Amino acid sequence: MTAEKERRGTRRAPVILLAVIVWLALTAVVVLLVDGRTVRFYVYGETEMDVEYGTAFIDPGVYAVTVGNLFGESDEELPVETLGSVDTNSLGAYFLRYTTRYAFSEYSVERRVNVIDTTPPVIELKHIEGYAPTWMTGYAEEGYSAWDNVDGDLTGKVQRLKLYNRVQYTVSDSSGNVTMVERPLTHMSYEPPEITLLGEADTVMQAGLWYTDPGVTVHDGLGNDLSAYLVTEGQVIPWVTGSYQISYSVTSELGETVSAERHVEVVPVSMPAAVTPTEKTIYLTFDDGPGPYTGRLLDVLDKYKVKATFFVTAQDSRYYDLIGRAFRAGHSIGVHSSSHNYNTIYSSEYAFFEDFFNMEEVIKAQTGEYTRLFRFPGGSSNTVSRFNPGIMTRLTQAMNNMGYQYYDWNVSSGDAGETTRTDQIIKNIKDGCAQHKASVVLQHDIKDFSVAAVESVIQWGQSNGYSFKALQLDSPSAHHGVNN
Ligand code: ZN
Repeated sequence: MTAEKERRGTRRAPVILLAVIVWLALTAVVVLLVDGRTVRFYVYGETEMDVEYGTAFIDPGVYAVTVGNLFGESDEELPVETLGSVDTNSLGAYFLRYTTRYAFSEYSVERRVNVIDTTPPVIELKHIEGYAPTWMTGYAEEGYSAWDNVDGDLTGKVQRLKLYNRVQYTVSDSSGNVTMVERPLTHMSYEPPEITLLGEADTVMQAGLWYTDPGVTVHDGLGNDLSAYLVTEGQVIPWVTGSYQISYSVTSELGETVSAERHVEVVPVSMPAAVTPTEKTIYLTFDDGPGPYTGRLLDVLDKYKVKATFFVTAQDSRYYDLIGRAFRAGHSIGVHSSSHNYNTIYSSEYAFFEDFFNMEEVIKAQTGEYTRLFRFPGGSSNTVSRFNPGIMTRLTQAMNNMGYQYYDWNVSSGDAGETTRTDQIIKNIKDGCAQHKASVVLQHDIKDFSVAAVESVIQWGQSNGYSFKALQLDSPSAHHGVNN
């Protein structure tokens, strides 16, 4: 008992100590349980943040303290360990874990950091020193490059779009950032060309066979000759009166057009008004020669000092000189036709004019001058030309516009098929002439039976108060109605 007491007495101090410790521990547990003490994190910045590629990332950090129901927040900052890291040189999502320990437990909070690329690529346009593009060929690329902070060289991915007055360059990086730059072409050094009209811009010309356009010159701002690119529109039909416009233009590769215009007014050649003779007049006219009987005819006309008119052809060159003889004798010479081939001459205006002016050359060679008198083969009323509808309407108008007077007839001798009898021809002419104050008589001097009638007709006419005259530009033209 004593010993036991003793043993107890000697152990009293440690027991008290132990009791205190236990009491403190129990108190702490009770306090903890009742206080509900835990850890509170304060996260600086956002828990999910974006950081730009390639920039320095500075972790804003966290602040950790304990907090309880009864005693509130501690003033003391808990030590925090950060797990994870952020590599801003590599795109992607990173997680930072902040950890602390308190009362045998581990507490942590997480932050997401996105390394992103919001920087668009850079396009650099090159400029060639002294480069002077021409207006016509347009702009030729001087060069460009594209670079991106993440993807590096993107030159090969640039989309180039050539627009009317600018060039557009577009490129996007792997993050979808798009860059577009433009190169304006409006203030380039080249200037549009200038079209300079040669001759007058407004021309009045008399109707005729030819219109020769004086043309233009066209040079760009650098002095380059652009005539190879010239487009001329509009056409003058020189024998048809009216207003014409000729337009000259050049169009560049960019679609710009520079143009100039010329106005040509085709006016008719003035013609003297026809004068009706006051006395009874007979105009003897002979078609289709000269031929074998023309010389004899000229002798008869000379004998009676009668002037007549010859509408000549080029069908027999052996008698061409008779055209000159007739002209020098005071007779009128008119064009009839070079070939007298209806199918050829009425096939087109061009064919007619070609035939016509060939005859004019023959006449000029024999007489020294061109004539302005003519008679259509078949007359202006012919229907043989109907294979080409409207040709006579166009030709009669065109020839008058060009200053040529055409003559038909109002007395037919009948030598073109109705008769081969000279006495009948004489009768036809007398009967015909009796009906007109001014008679234009149709005969053919390639027909001997017709030529043989002339002397009688003259004798009859002269003894009956008629005067015989050669046709002039102002003589009655005895026009027929045009039937085609
Ligand atoms: Zn004829």
